Amino acid sequence: MADSFHPPQHLYYDGRIQAASSGKVIRTINPSTAQPLADVFSASHSDVDAAVTSAQKAFHAWSKSPPIVRSRILLKAAQLLRERNDEIAAVETQDTGKPYSETSTVDVVTGADALEFFANLVGGGGLNGETAQLREDAWVYTKKEALGVCAGIGAWNYPIQIALWKSAPCLAAGNTMVYKPSEFTPLHGQTLAEIYTEAGVPPGVFNVVNGAGDVGAYLTAHPAIAKVSFTGQVSTGKKVAASAAGEMKYITMELGGKSPIIILPDADLNNAVDGAMLANFFSSGQVCTNGTRVFVPRDKLEDFEKKVLERLEYIRPGPLMDMNTNFGPLVSNIHYEKVINYIKHGIDVDKAKLLCGGLGKPAAINGLEGGYWIKPTVFTDCHDSMKIVQEEIFGPVMTILPYSTVDEAVERANTTPLGLAAGVFTLDLNLAHQVISKLEAGITWINTWGESPAEMSVGGWKQSGVGVENGKRGLEAWVRNKSTLVDMSGVVPTVFAKI
Ligand code: NDP
Repeated sequence: MADSFHPPQHLYYDGRIQAASSGKVIRTINPSTAQPLADVFSASHSDVDAAVTSAQKAFHAWSKSPPIVRSRILLKAAQLLRERNDEIAAVETQDTGKPYSETSTVDVVTGADALEFFANLVGGGGLNGETAQLREDAWVYTKKEALGVCAGIGAWNYPIQIALWKSAPCLAAGNTMVYKPSEFTPLHGQTLAEIYTEAGVPPGVFNVVNGAGDVGAYLTAHPAIAKVSFTGQVSTGKKVAASAAGEMKYITMELGGKSPIIILPDADLNNAVDGAMLANFFSSGQVCTNGTRVFVPRDKLEDFEKKVLERLEYIRPGPLMDMNTNFGPLVSNIHYEKVINYIKHGIDVDKAKLLCGGLGKPAAINGLEGGYWIKPTVFTDCHDSMKIVQEEIFGPVMTILPYSTVDEAVERANTTPLGLAAGVFTLDLNLAHQVISKLEAGITWINTWGESPAEMSVGGWKQSGVGVENGKRGLEAWVRNKSTLVDMSGVVPTVFAKI
């Protein structure tokens, strides 16, 4: 794909593009070629203050607008996103290095789906509270109130999808947002803000500040922020949660994982291998819910490996806009170094058995050698104590772990401080549910992997996160409850009456 240098990216608040005052510029690159892609102007503290003020000013009117009115506006934004799907997807491809065959069918689509879901939910009464009749003359009613100005902080792997999974429920519930994309993939931010504005979202309701981690840290700690919704690494999430806790802010934390797939002894091995391939190599392994610990019955190991090697032939790195390409480079040089170091560690220190891949660039990337390409890599016959089995690599690196009994596999699958996702492959549905119920993870799949529709609430257990995104429960993360007890008896039950 020929690189096109994009117009510079600025900030967005008060309903329009705004110049940044920091003087700092981040130059983003196209990961498939390592060529420059755009200059992004970073926000100063006073720029973040201005964006937050803009969101504060907009909050009252937006939060008091009828949900059906907000719903109509957000549905219009979903329609605009769909109309501009291909154009936005092409930019996401250049920004992230993910093939167009993915971004044009997943990234914008699943973001627009979330917008449509939450717009319909609030338009259909999803923000209604409950009533409880206490006595003939007394009842309790509850209301769901917007929280205020919220911060959204995104990771680089699904930029526009993450921005939409956060802003859709946030705005639908009546909040306003200041959003900070990852410095590595910021190109969607301004586009999304413009689409919201075009759809009728009032100025100040959705704002974008660009910059690196320090901008995120300043935003997170800002006293006017009521909630922080963060997607990123566990280590960063801990810092963000600690900062938010200082002022008792609401948080949602969508963090990393090291998720297990258990191939049960009776599984259809072809389906199981297809699932494991998706769970490790889609988006070149840069998916939070990756199933990177693949538990395989010891007596099926050889067959499983053979089928994995067959499927690896169907991984097609290449020019990103070619619809046949299904495997891109890693997102950045920093990340490339990190993943390569894990592979080196697997070979040199863990002494894991390399089934395929390893160091070096994949074949068939003629003309793209400058990019951050890496070979799809499989280590087999691994042990739980290996670093490559324990830590999130966030790249195309599968580890296969043979097991002897299902109980043993479940116990080993749960022996991790992380708990984002888990899954089983089996034809025995009773066993499927029994095993799933024992797995310590917030997102689970049976006989499939990776699909995460807007209807499905997703969030990690243990150190993989706090709270959920999407589904009906996803809306609850953006409201606070107000309970009111009404007494019509005309008598206050005081204990301080005259005896
Ligand atoms: P990081 O934690 O490095 O960064 C996430 C975001 O936080 C970026 O916008 C980053 O800015 C910003 N940031 C960095 N430091 C701070 C700080 N001190 N305070 C506030 N914000 C800060 O994660 P990655 O971008 O590397 O994303 C990959 C990770 O995200 C993986 O661990 C993956 O598992 C996880 N993830 C989880 C998902 C889930 O739903 N559970 C979904 C997708 C990814 P900058 O980029 O400019 O440094």
